[in-house]
Amino acid sequence: MGDCRCGCGEPANNGDFIAGHSQKLTSSLVKEVGGLFALQELIQSAKQYSYGEKRTKEFLDLIRRIFPVKNLK
Ligand SMILES: [Zn+2]
Repeated sequence: MGDCRCGCGEPANNGDFIAGHSQKLTSSLVKEVGGLFALQELIQSAKQYSYGEKRTKEFLDLIRRIFPVKNLK
């Protein structure tokens, strides 16, 4: 058996998650991209890119808008 997939590090005895922790993963993923609409846009754009409906530059521009380049000093 592996650890809970939410990243909490606890053992998940029956499946991927401890009870209730799939929602923790959902919340953290939404937060990481900056909200539910940003997640929706990211998924739609990834699909469009894969289907050849969006050009590489447009897709990368969206990625960089959602995940701005960190100012490393
Ligand atoms: Zn967990």
